[in-house]
Amino acid sequence: MLNCNHYNLVIITLWVRLLNKYIPLLKQKNIKITHQRLAILKYLDEHHNHPTAFDIYTKLKERYPSLSKTTVYNSLDILQKYGIITALTICGSEHRYDINEGMHHHFLCKRCGRIIDIDIKCPNIEKVKSYGHEIEEVHGYFKGICKNCINKNDVKKNES
Ligand SMILES: [Zn+2]
Ligand SMILES: [Zn+2]
Repeated sequence: MLNCNHYNLVIITLWVRLLNKYIPLLKQKNIKITHQRLAILKYLDEHHNHPTAFDIYTKLKERYPSLSKTTVYNSLDILQKYGIITALTICGSEHRYDINEGMHHHFLCKRCGRIIDIDIKCPNIEKVKSYGHEIEEVHGYFKGICKNCINKNDVKKNES
C-alpha cells in the first residue's frame, strides 16, 4: 500500500513538473491549452526517440481511446508551427518529432534506423546572423552506421 501511494505521488509530481513547464509556454504563444496537446508534449518530453505522428497517435490511443488521428496530426502541426516541437525530415518526407530542448543535430543509422541526438554547436549560426537574418530553426543531419551496429558487425566477424 505504501509503495502504491509512493508510485502515485511520483506520477503526480511528474505531471506537475510537466504542466509547469508547458502551460506557460503554450500561454506565451497564445496556443489553446488542451488535454491532447499536453499529452503529446508529455509523450515527446519522455521519449527522445524521434517518433512519427503515427507512433505518437498509436501510443496515446492506448491511454486515451477517444483520441482521433486528426487531432494528433493537427496538434503536432500547431506545436511545430509555434516552435515548441520540431519536425525532422531526416528520413525523407515522413516527419519525425522532437521536443525543442537545447539545440542539437541528428544522426540517422541506415542499418537500425535509430535517430540519435548529437550535441553540436553549429559554427555557421553566427555567420548567418551576421548577414542580418533571424534564425528560427537549425537542422543538422548526419547519416551512417551507428556505434551499436558497427560493434554488432565486429562481433559477427570475430565469430565466423
Ligand atoms: Zn544502428
Ligand atoms: Zn533530437
